[in-house]
Amino acid sequence: MPVIQHQRSDYIIKLEALNRRLPATHPAKNKVENRLIREKAGIKGENDMNFYLRFLSPDNHYLHKNPRIPCHGSHFEIDNLLMYCTAFLAVEVKNWYGTIFFDGESQVIQRHDNGTEIGYPNPIPQVKLQIHRLRLLLNRLNIPYIPMHYFIVFSSPKTIIKPLYPDNPVPKEVIHANRLFFLIKKFLQQYSAPILDMKNIADVSAYLVAEHTPKMVDVMYEFGIKPWELIKGVFCPKCGIAPMAWKHGKWHCIQCLHASKMSHISALRDYMLLISDELSNAEARKFLKLDSPDVMKRLLRAAYQVAGTTKNRRYKLSKCRINANYAE
Ligand SMILES: [Zn+2]
Repeated sequence: MPVIQHQRSDYIIKLEALNRRLPATHPAKNKVENRLIREKAGIKGENDMNFYLRFLSPDNHYLHKNPRIPCHGSHFEIDNLLMYCTAFLAVEVKNWYGTIFFDGESQVIQRHDNGTEIGYPNPIPQVKLQIHRLRLLLNRLNIPYIPMHYFIVFSSPKTIIKPLYPDNPVPKEVIHANRLFFLIKKFLQQYSAPILDMKNIADVSAYLVAEHTPKMVDVMYEFGIKPWELIKGVFCPKCGIAPMAWKHGKWHCIQCLHASKMSHISALRDYMLLISDELSNAEARKFLKLDSPDVMKRLLRAAYQVAGTTKNRRYKLSKCRINANYAE
């Protein structure tokens, strides 16, 4: 079974960078922290659900994870798309906690353990629209009509799913993750006649791979934060305090006395994620809190591609030759 995990949006790594560089006293701090927790929980939910998809028999289908495809001026995204010769199945994953009340396809209400209630858009019309858009795409690719269905999967077994009104039961497509494997098997039994062959499916698959476009988000814009509000300096990779001071060819932490040569790479990666993918020597010095233009020039030249003439020289942060994870 080819499993294609499409590249995810860089949203979480940008949120992490913003959270790291936003002072604890900033009015948006809580909002950023909460969004980061929610996004990470979503990824965990998707990973937990992969456990149940592993039991599907191999060789007879393709599984695309998180394809995001341009279509009619915008994009549609599906958490999991299973493509069999007999039918297609979209599986949307929700990582919601507490008690979730469904009123058919109207707004859903999440009640937390402390009694607070939040309304969310119902995921059923959302996934139906994604399927409709996938159908338009398949038509455009001259793929014969194939049945398509969906499940909305709650990844946490602790989530309670209830009808809001007793006479309007929870739609049968809304399930807990531990039922998914059995319901997919049951679903496939309904469709025994192949409509496509594996070559058709491989063609659709290749199209999805070619067209996938990860979502790019400007988190500074989203939370209304200006560059001057961020914490400047190089963070210590050991204790997390900023700024480290550059002395005798190394960055030194004033708190835990840790010393490292490459910690500026992680700091400049934050700059790239939050502000711009290129910068000048002066901008780098301001962000890293380093006074010497000569030292800064040496550090930048050692790691980044240069653009522009001597006077307007800029460094391409996206062309870093050193992995930030090993820059400690
Ligand atoms: Zn330290």
